[in-house]
Amino acid sequence: MNANIRDYIKDKKRIVIKIGSSSLQHAETGDLDYVKLEKLVRALCDICNQGKEVVLVSSGAIAAGRNAMHLSGRADVKGDSPIAVKQACAAVGQAKLMMVYQKLFAEYNHIAAQILMTKNTIVDDLNRFNAYNTFKELLKLGAVPIVNENDTVATYEIEIGDNDTLSAIVAALIEADLLILLSDIDGLYSDDPRTNPDAEFIEVVEYLDEDIMQMGRSTTGSSVGTGGMGTKLIAARIATKSGADMIIANSQNVSVIHEIMEGENVGTLFKAHSDASFDLKSFVEGLHKN
Ligand code: GLU
Repeated sequence: MNANIRDYIKDKKRIVIKIGSSSLQHAETGDLDYVKLEKLVRALCDICNQGKEVVLVSSGAIAAGRNAMHLSGRADVKGDSPIAVKQACAAVGQAKLMMVYQKLFAEYNHIAAQILMTKNTIVDDLNRFNAYNTFKELLKLGAVPIVNENDTVATYEIEIGDNDTLSAIVAALIEADLLILLSDIDGLYSDDPRTNPDAEFIEVVEYLDEDIMQMGRSTTGSSVGTGGMGTKLIAARIATKSGADMIIANSQNVSVIHEIMEGENVGTLFKAHSDASFDLKSFVEGLHKN
């Protein structure tokens, strides 16, 4: 493959970066990985310093809250714990996460802002309009919006459900030109590489057709986040139809962000194909309906 095929990524101006819970915490304890968070924030601030606009979609609220309240080891508060427990964990953890982000961004002389969303933020016309204006204003002011689902109030009926999808919705809403999903996998494989050693790595997806969508069906996510490859491909569908390229890359080494922004061939690139008939509101309305 031509080594310069990704050169145009250097010119991207408005970038949404999503990081998953498993990438923000130590696997052994579930506690926040401050070294990684610090490197992440430094990389984001550096991109801002290049004159680009950056939005971070960060998971980790529920995980951080669960740990802060010493609920991690308890079987009754795992993934399928009662909704009120998860929402209480999110209330504590979201504040804790933001405290850490505020501190780290301030160290690099940048300002972090918090935006919490639910499905209603997109489905309701006035809410969507207000959210759009807030994002635009924050970016104009040079702040870095940090987005999560409003897990403390979002129940099944009004939740987006996972941050892969949420980040693509944000990218579509604010007309971003690049979405980067940082995950604990290298990118898209033809099959699940954990179970099939012959699975082939896919560097670029020119068109997101049904064959590609099928590749996500067999994989599941890590034990702490909610996204597997399936949600990443849904994100790719939203992002590419809205005119944003999307890249899935492994966040084991956070400097992968720099490699991506320098046009290096890392992760899987999904090429944008703007689709004028794609309607974000209808798409979000249809989430979880089948
Ligand atoms: N919103 C959830 C949290 O912050 C995470 C959802 C996800 O990982 O996709 O804990």
